[in-house]
Amino acid sequence: MKNRSHLMATYAEPTVTFVSGSGTTLIDDQGKEYLDFLCGLAVTSLGHARPEVTSAIADQANTLSHVSNLFANELGPEVADLIDGLLTTATGTSGRVFLCNSGAEANECALKLARRVQPGKHAVITTLDSFHGRTLATLTATGQPAKHEPFQPLPEGFSYVPFGDLTAMKARLAIGDVAAVLVECIQAEGGVNVPEKGYLSGVEAACREAGALFMVDEVQAGLGRTGQWFSFQDEGLTPDVVTMAKALGNGFPVGACWAKADVADCFGPGDHGSTFGGQPLAMAAVKATLATMIDIDAPNAAASASAHLVSSLSDLDGIVAVRGRGLLLGAVLSAPVAGAVAASALKDGLIVNAVRPDVIRLTPPLTVSSEEIDEAVRRLGVILHETMGSTQS
Ligand code: PLP
Repeated sequence: MKNRSHLMATYAEPTVTFVSGSGTTLIDDQGKEYLDFLCGLAVTSLGHARPEVTSAIADQANTLSHVSNLFANELGPEVADLIDGLLTTATGTSGRVFLCNSGAEANECALKLARRVQPGKHAVITTLDSFHGRTLATLTATGQPAKHEPFQPLPEGFSYVPFGDLTAMKARLAIGDVAAVLVECIQAEGGVNVPEKGYLSGVEAACREAGALFMVDEVQAGLGRTGQWFSFQDEGLTPDVVTMAKALGNGFPVGACWAKADVADCFGPGDHGSTFGGQPLAMAAVKATLATMIDIDAPNAAASASAHLVSSLSDLDGIVAVRGRGLLLGAVLSAPVAGAVAASALKDGLIVNAVRPDVIRLTPPLTVSSEEIDEAVRRLGVILHETMGSTQS
């Protein structure tokens, strides 16, 4: 492994260096192959080095990478149309898109919209155990007090309620100062937590009653992963603002914040911006990614692979439940050994991660094959047997 001493130590020391990938497979610098059941934390949803996307990026790099937002380019509006098309179908309402570079930036845009939309109301409610990013505002929106501690003082105007507790949400909304609620429909980083049916529609209805925006963070769950284009569709919700990133460029760094037109229109020139947002190179990646997702019916691919993966995982000794939807899954273990299981899996050429002491997250590409699922589950079964055996002895 290369000397990493001049990188800021913001991540745990990695043990593996990857050098190439194709589909569900990654290869390390020793030539060892891995089954990637995490896909860059739900990023490479079409698999590594998907040809339609890589050739679009290469062609665009050879044509025009960047012109700045002082000028128009042809791809930004095309991508905005594509994203708005998906959201118009999902919500029944057309809107506008702000293009940026990451999930945190997409949420930052949502938070700034919330501040602008109704003068006099500025508070944003999020839920405990949520994750919305690492910039100062999105870290504050993230409902994890331990992550806040080292960075005080944080921006004002954020409140937290327990995920799934509609009464607490209504009580906080009733104070009357709330501009927006921001939620993940399935809390991904927080442990793949799925609320009870009716909770999210209750939150949306409470937002409408209180005159607050209902904003959904689809950064991890969106773009086909849960078996629908957006996870909010499961309860037929109609959010005012939707953020997305991870899978949007199949690995090319890009994010987007969509808002219904009347909400989006509270921004004018100078209110928000980003040097790289909406520039041709990233937009070529997004256009190719979305076109391929539409072509292969990515939500449907996720739903059918999910049925096979969930039933195979559920049969394994040591797994007591499988939660989540589509290919955003958390395997709940019968003991708090998720960290050890993920480490052994990596040694055995299977990439998953621990999101809770007893929960393993699996987010394979939406293109994962039945054979790859069978092989991953076989490896996991052996590891669980070994790990649970050794914890019991
Ligand atoms: N929102 C959710 C739900 C996420 O899972 C993440 C990242 O894991 C983010 C926001 C932040 O995205 P990024 O790391 O691209 O800034």
